[in-house]
Amino acid sequence: MSLEIPSDWLPDSWQRKPATQQPNYPDAEALQRAISELGQLPPLVTSWEVNALKSQLARAQAGEFFVLQGGDCAESFADCQPQLIVSRLKVLLQMSLVLVHGLRKRVLRIGRFAGQYAKPRSADLETKDGISLPSYRGDLVNAPAFTPEARIPDPQRLLEGHMRSALTINFVRGLIDGGFADLHHPEYWDLDWVQHSPLAADYQRMVDALGDSLRFMEKLAGAPISDFQRVDFYTSHEALLLWYEQAQTRRVPRAPGWYNLSTHFPWIGMRTAEIGGAHVEYCRGIQNPMGVKVSPSMSVDWVLDLCRVLNPENEPGRLTLIHRMGADKIGDHLPRLIEAVAKAGHRVLWLCDPMHGNTISTPNGLKTRPFEKILSEVEQSFAIHAACGAQLGGVHLELTGEDVTECTGGARNLSNADLERAYRSTVDPRLNYEQALELALKIVRFAG
Ligand code: PEP
Ligand code: MN
Repeated sequence: MSLEIPSDWLPDSWQRKPATQQPNYPDAEALQRAISELGQLPPLVTSWEVNALKSQLARAQAGEFFVLQGGDCAESFADCQPQLIVSRLKVLLQMSLVLVHGLRKRVLRIGRFAGQYAKPRSADLETKDGISLPSYRGDLVNAPAFTPEARIPDPQRLLEGHMRSALTINFVRGLIDGGFADLHHPEYWDLDWVQHSPLAADYQRMVDALGDSLRFMEKLAGAPISDFQRVDFYTSHEALLLWYEQAQTRRVPRAPGWYNLSTHFPWIGMRTAEIGGAHVEYCRGIQNPMGVKVSPSMSVDWVLDLCRVLNPENEPGRLTLIHRMGADKIGDHLPRLIEAVAKAGHRVLWLCDPMHGNTISTPNGLKTRPFEKILSEVEQSFAIHAACGAQLGGVHLELTGEDVTECTGGARNLSNADLERAYRSTVDPRLNYEQALELALKIVRFAG
């Protein structure tokens, strides 16, 4: 199924709408040159993968899959390194093993990678010691160093971002096609910590139980079941920098409409979700399935308008609402939205992002997120959806496969003082591998 192509839409029609969170490029010609070069380069994904994801999201809506979407808050060009990519993949695979085993459901994996290079900021300028410079907007736009040169938006970065996304996706595809994600070999995903983690025994029990079930099912089937030998991995990023998205919006042979071929699943962030704004305008015209972040400040009418504008034909799998309320607000704000969306008959998939509503600053000025709040938001989400007769279809997480100390709490009970030890994020605090796995174990309990 595909979306009717709106007759008043083109990949660049967003330019006639108010576009927030866009950099001011000082050299308009250099920008046009970069965009036209980007427009000639091969795409990062294909339309049939995009369509396949849309049908799987439709099945997730029907309760057949649980969606695990996760990755860094922001990728950086410097972190386009094999061991970082592999560790992130490992933690996502370990989490999905836990979820498959515990939920008795298939898991749909969407990485927050291969293009998550642009960031919304709360202010256009950053001021330090009386000096104001343009804010860092992600490696796709400028560089984080606090110098005037680093902060100038550079259109060449659009090309660099495309290249690094291609390198990332190429490596992930190679690993998956080569059998790295084979459920028969969960030992491929071992990270050094597994032996001395407080969660090691729980995890190992699941691996053993799953191994036994696989062998049993294959004995019954009389042959290896190919479904277990490979998994799909889809990519996603926030569709924020519209010049980048526009340049990779293409028509393809034998399918109607326009596809954003820079990612399978773009989403609209909380700060750019206005009806009538450029981001909603851009997204309404593409065929991709897409997400929109839903915050406590959104009214029922706003959310219903988003459903109407982004999914006018009520196509299953097309629209995912990602609520990010905060553990202290979700109880007051989510039920009315779920009820209104259901009453209006909109078909959506609901995901919970338990990260962005739970960010606080430590007395030392580090951004962190208490693990208990993250858990609490996920737990409340399951309960609220069930009470409203709806279904939580999955989670959207910021995580890494590295041993960072960015969120407090978890099995090792990280304190504010521990954060200084291995705080690496330049933007939002991520779950480390152990907190991510613990969350997966808890999800199984909350869902049950
Ligand atoms: C994000 O996902 O990194 C983000 C900025 O989220 P939100 O738009 O929900 O604040
Ligand atoms: Mn973030």
